Amino acid sequence: MSKILVINSGSSSLKYQLIDMKDESVLAKGICERIGIANSNFVYKAHGQTIEQLVDMPNHNVAVKLVLDKLTDAEVGVIASMEEIDGVGHRVVASGEAFKVPTLVTPEAMVLMEEIKDLAPLHNPAAIVGVNACLAQMPNTPMVLVFDTGFHFTMPDYAYMYAVDYAHYEKYKIRRYGAHGTSHKFVAQEAAKYLGKDIADLKIITCHLGNGSSISAVEGGKCIDTSMGFTPLAGVAMGTRSGDIDYAAAEYIGRKEGMDISQTLTYLNKKCGMLGLSGVSSDFRDLAKAADEGNYRANLALDVFAYGTKKYIGAYSAALNGVDVIVFTAGVGENDADVRRRTLKNLDYLGVKLDLEKNANCPRGTIAEIQADDSRVKILVIPTNEEVVIARETMAVAKLS
Ligand code: AMP
Repeated sequence: MSKILVINSGSSSLKYQLIDMKDESVLAKGICERIGIANSNFVYKAHGQTIEQLVDMPNHNVAVKLVLDKLTDAEVGVIASMEEIDGVGHRVVASGEAFKVPTLVTPEAMVLMEEIKDLAPLHNPAAIVGVNACLAQMPNTPMVLVFDTGFHFTMPDYAYMYAVDYAHYEKYKIRRYGAHGTSHKFVAQEAAKYLGKDIADLKIITCHLGNGSSISAVEGGKCIDTSMGFTPLAGVAMGTRSGDIDYAAAEYIGRKEGMDISQTLTYLNKKCGMLGLSGVSSDFRDLAKAADEGNYRANLALDVFAYGTKKYIGAYSAALNGVDVIVFTAGVGENDADVRRRTLKNLDYLGVKLDLEKNANCPRGTIAEIQADDSRVKILVIPTNEEVVIARETMAVAKLS
């Protein structure tokens, strides 16, 4: 059975996981941080131990070499040689319409990747660098591009189209793409498995709530709508992102504050959301503490976030013509009982009733069911695992077994 290396490249970082597909267990994982910057940091976790080293990593090639050296190290390694890695799955943030399914890395695919670089200017170029760094070390190992947007390509046209001049859709492919697709897909499948139901029979709303947040409507295992848009700026308010906003309001702030469009977008991405509203932090733990201490704006930020999420649950219940399961996942969704409580407050007309006790005492790191006994809708907390989806897609596309 295959072993798959999953790579998530950022502009100055590279996260990795080696997964044994026999049982989808993680053999080793870690992160290379501050690549190309002074004081690069290398973290390697295997055999229940963590090794952290300050190593010079001037570029991604050196980082990948370091990862492979550790994985095959006689003492701390988990494989005897690089040949044991049967495939490499690369996470890619944005696909545009260029890639609608996970795709094998070929020279032609990499030409297309270059063409869609500016759809995610911070992330997509990093993915290209990561692929090339892996190819340099493992030229004969099959590699697969797995896109965050991939799960959302089943949306119908009326859900993904913006009401702009149709010519601009045709010319620039301006439309809703969504994000966090691998996470939404994973938790929807896990929900069906956990409930012992065929996913084809379920209407699921998946809430991926973290520093970035998105909500998806999943019918019969297929995404029919999602809250993020052309970029991950859209949808609910997030850690530092505004989420949906009247564009005239954004333009007005920009004009009054002397910001051009690009500066205004940076403002909407980095200075708004929970951070902007609360003036305290983008971190939900800090917001909870401040709200507990009576900070009005921190409490307001949490209410705005929860109310925004609740409205998507309402909208997607309509889009799905009902809902069987609501899933919470990611940093906030899995850990923040108070946000779940605020979000699901007064939804009993939909058949959604939270058990406050179960919610508050929800165990960490495992699937938990937190609805009240008389709730028609199941409410599940499911730890996400984007890497395992990337590894599964890699197996399928590279035809490994
Ligand atoms: P993610 O982007 O999925 O890594 O999620 C990051 C967010 O999860 C941060 O805003 C954290 O504050 C939040 N988070 C992580 N652990 C907890 C926790 N125990 N309680 C509340 N929020 C948490």
